[in-house]
Amino acid sequence: MTDPLTGAAAGDLTLALDRAHVFHSWSAQGALAPFAIAGGLGSEVWDHEGRRYLDFSSQLVNVNIGHGHPAVVAAIAEQAALLATVAPGHANLARGRAAAAIVAHAPAGMSKVFFTNGGADANENAIRMARLHTGRDKVLSAYRSYHGNTGAAIVATGDWRRVPNEYARGHVHFFGPFLYRSEFWATTPEQESERALTHLRRVVEAEGPASIAAILLETVVGTGGVLVPPPGYLEGVRALADAHGILLILDEVMAGFGRTGAWFALDHTGVRPDLITFAKGVNSGYVPVGGVILSDAVARTFDDRVFPGGLTYSGHPLAMASIVAALDAMEREGVVTNAARIGVEVLGPGLADLAARHGIVGDVRGLGVFWALDLVSDRELRTPVGPAVMGRLKAELMARGLLPFLADNRLHVVPPCVVTDDEVRRALAIYDEALTVIDEELTP
Ligand code: PLP
Repeated sequence: MTDPLTGAAAGDLTLALDRAHVFHSWSAQGALAPFAIAGGLGSEVWDHEGRRYLDFSSQLVNVNIGHGHPAVVAAIAEQAALLATVAPGHANLARGRAAAAIVAHAPAGMSKVFFTNGGADANENAIRMARLHTGRDKVLSAYRSYHGNTGAAIVATGDWRRVPNEYARGHVHFFGPFLYRSEFWATTPEQESERALTHLRRVVEAEGPASIAAILLETVVGTGGVLVPPPGYLEGVRALADAHGILLILDEVMAGFGRTGAWFALDHTGVRPDLITFAKGVNSGYVPVGGVILSDAVARTFDDRVFPGGLTYSGHPLAMASIVAALDAMEREGVVTNAARIGVEVLGPGLADLAARHGIVGDVRGLGVFWALDLVSDRELRTPVGPAVMGRLKAELMARGLLPFLADNRLHVVPPCVVTDDEVRRALAIYDEALTVIDEELTP
């Protein structure tokens, strides 16, 4: 049934109900003024008054296949009519098909999937598996990282969200590579890679290698700034882990399923992790889901030993049907190839051109449909712009019909993987206009 309420009245009711009853993530509730989205198709969303916006946030960087993909919507509806829920202990055809479709894109020697409700509990369970498999406790992860908002996942997180939540034990942090804001005084990617590896090796040695269960890394750091690892870094981490019997967990929650122009971001390297965590792009968030892909060696640990973890909705049939349909459509429609091509031919060059013409853009980095502009008030000193500037930029972008993704002093450019050349060109023109306004406001 379609809601009879439309237009401005629907928008007003949405905001009134939201402000009265909805408690939002990561926010002081008092000053919130959320943007009300009524619908979406492809790379666009619209509000209740029919104003359309290019969704260059992909919501929370998850709508890889775009909004309203008919095959995914139909698969969910069909599964709902057949069997809308099933206990995790039973076998279900949609679940088996989803797991098979996922491992088909994973490295050889990884043939099992444990399904969760999202990315945080994927990391939570990967950490649990690593601890049980190795009989060790500690987990090393990077300061510039986000791994989710549950017990171990939030303490594995490096950014500010960890600090009020440090209730889990056994977590140690280190600095990963980030050449533009190097912790290591490096001036080339090779130097940054080598020095970041030396730092990590020193942390491992100082912590006691035999106490470390896993190193947990985002293959490409997402919310922390779209940090593509420099050449040799992930290979070096793998070698360090192997030397000490430490497992490598790659968090592909944001980077996986097309975002970097490959099925997994690890495909850009020769690195084979022991565990991969995923969520978001696997079904573009049409139904909440995540999971862990296990290497056969880790999976074997639990052949005769109970795995002490589970969820009522592990492998929920609506999520499973949506995964099967989403991955099938992504293959048929060349969605991952499109993301790669857009990055190389349109988005990468277009953003480099913006950086050349706008003093506020200190750095451009990324690949596929996964990019960030690092905005600075002083290019020499690389001084991050403050929240007031970011607020102004958001207002200018929204006024021109683009829904942006902003994090700290950065504009993340993260459209759906199905974005077209024309949509990217429209977005680049909007970024250009908005940055011109902000540049002028900042020029004394
Ligand atoms: N890992 C990464 C890299 C993420 O970007 C996120 C969410 O943004 C998570 C884990 C947590 O996923 P979820 O919000 O589905 O729990």
